Amino acid sequence: MSNESLANLLKEERRFEPPTELAAAANVTADAYERARADRLGFWAEQARRLDWATEPTETLDWSNPPFAKWFQDGELNVAHNCVDRHVQAGHGDRVAIHFEGEPGDSRTITYADLQREVSRAANALTELGVRAGDRVAIYLPMIPEAVFAMLACARLGAPHSVVFGGFSADALATRIQDAQARVVITSDGGYRKGGASPLKPAVDEALTRPGTEDVRSVVVVRRTGQDVDWTEGRDVWWHELVDRQSEEHTPQAFGAEQPLFILYTSGTTGKPKGILHTSGGYLTQAAYTHHAVFDLKPESDVFWCTADIGWVTGHSYIVYGPLANGATQVMYEGTPDSPHKGRWWEIAEKYGVTIFYTAPTAIRACMKWGDDIPAKYDLSALRILGSVGEPINPEAWVWYREHIGGGRTPVVDTWWQTETGSIMISPLPGVTATKPGSAQVPLPGIAATVVDDEAREVPDGSGGYLVLTEPWPSMLRTIWGDDQRYLDTYWARFENRYFAGDGAKKDDDGDIWLLGRVDDVMLVSGHNISTTEVESALVSHPSVAEAAVVGAADPQTTQSICAFVILRGTAAESEGLVDELRAHVAQQLGPIAKPKRVLAVAELPKTRSGKIMRRLLRDIAEDRQLGDVTTLTDPSVMGLIQEKLPSAP
Ligand code: ATP
Ligand code: MG
Repeated sequence: MSNESLANLLKEERRFEPPTELAAAANVTADAYERARADRLGFWAEQARRLDWATEPTETLDWSNPPFAKWFQDGELNVAHNCVDRHVQAGHGDRVAIHFEGEPGDSRTITYADLQREVSRAANALTELGVRAGDRVAIYLPMIPEAVFAMLACARLGAPHSVVFGGFSADALATRIQDAQARVVITSDGGYRKGGASPLKPAVDEALTRPGTEDVRSVVVVRRTGQDVDWTEGRDVWWHELVDRQSEEHTPQAFGAEQPLFILYTSGTTGKPKGILHTSGGYLTQAAYTHHAVFDLKPESDVFWCTADIGWVTGHSYIVYGPLANGATQVMYEGTPDSPHKGRWWEIAEKYGVTIFYTAPTAIRACMKWGDDIPAKYDLSALRILGSVGEPINPEAWVWYREHIGGGRTPVVDTWWQTETGSIMISPLPGVTATKPGSAQVPLPGIAATVVDDEAREVPDGSGGYLVLTEPWPSMLRTIWGDDQRYLDTYWARFENRYFAGDGAKKDDDGDIWLLGRVDDVMLVSGHNISTTEVESALVSHPSVAEAAVVGAADPQTTQSICAFVILRGTAAESEGLVDELRAHVAQQLGPIAKPKRVLAVAELPKTRSGKIMRRLLRDIAEDRQLGDVTTLTDPSVMGLIQEKLPSAP
């Protein structure tokens, strides 16, 4: 971004007050902000008491060597005990922890008592394989209950896990195994996705032929699909042969609050993936608190469903650690939302009476595209809160979500956070905040965030700039695994004493925060910094557009010009008239400066495997360059289809 601040173009006037009943019974009320402001550390010390500590911490934060934080340092706890055993001990052993739904239609109900047995057995199994506290375990599994058992078994032993998304290639898996020097890999023969069985074990076999993976002594294989697998004697062992014969008893040992809990590699759209390190006490405190506060979770009555994959941080914090620390009942689903039909998610939500639903804008936009009539066929009346995460949510998609999934009643919480932050940082509170479609709005109680300009000065309300976090928080990353210098350079070098998130943002006239996309994606048009998010949201607010991606292409007159790629809705057809209409629509919504020079209708957009639009590749196309690295794309063939469209560009 240049010296000019990010322009503030989008005006959104719609407001939605919290439902009266929800507000009256909300877990967290407005006074929490006040209490946290008056005594931030006291507030977090109070939240840490949600956990069961073997040794209560006396010190909240050690910030004597910034930016290397230590939270609750002299406290000791076992994370798995907190997520499992203590609920059984409190008499909730019969409560369902996980309603598992496999893609082919198989299902499994796991109570907290079942979970305790499964996790204990898995912990005993890993111990038998020689896993000790501090050893790293790589987990490469589909969305099946064993993924949760494996993660919690590692946590129980103080052995940090590194979960690698099951859709990643052998290469990606190998670099992550090498970087973390994992000793054990837990995988499966395969998993079900998009209506078929897709293999996983071959990628592990291939990854383990690469140099630097020699530390791996054992590969534990869950049988999920029954596919044939190659077998390396002495290294490979079936989960059911190893785990099922173990004792159901395992006494968890308490570890220091700063014991590493997991390493998770960010999706790595550029450069070598960063191994984000999270530790135990602070991470679990904030994961549990935010899950309680943002989703207003009532463990006795709610059925929570987060659709993320366990390979992303959202799956770590809002399938495994937050919900289980809070004793929640949740749904876990293996497959894709359109297998075998486009109503699958809503069918599952109806079946289990889901009350809280958390997903990503990309999924919401896909559902919009598929049509309102699909969710309308299902009874979604149990839903009371909807959440969004992963990208800025276009106001129109937000309103559609509330209307067509939430029956026009449910608050929508747009939650901003990152792998690095460990848990939610900026979000409305469903019983407190009057929500604004498209805005994450307010830092949670105990969190300090603001927007600054190039010189690190806080921007006034009504202006844009860079999102920064100004105080340490309990679930912050502790470092990049094995690379403290990269931790300093990436997050703490841009502004002194402030964490640089890498996202553009603005504060509106009420001081509420709007996320405007990645700083690298910001466009510079005739001396104005313009956010991709705002132009995309303006396009999506046109009735013919389901989804849009916007990039700045080099332009001799204006530095960059705006090039928009749109997916049309339902019956809308591409025509010169429609292109002109869309350009005029953006100009009318945001002003003439934001008018796209080109608008191209496409069938698909390039997305990362976590569903985020990859604007970098669209920029390559708009500037007629050789395409950059496409290996992290869900479907690389999408790029060919888009390129074919180009000659018809105006
Ligand atoms: P990499 O850092 O490797 O490029 P990534 O940033 O996509 O990967 P994540 O940590 O999963 O990996 O995503 C965090 C980013 O997602 C944020 O920095 C932000 O750009 C975006 N994001 C997440 N939630 C929101 C939200 N509610 N509104 C706007 N943007 C969001
Ligand atoms: Mg990132």
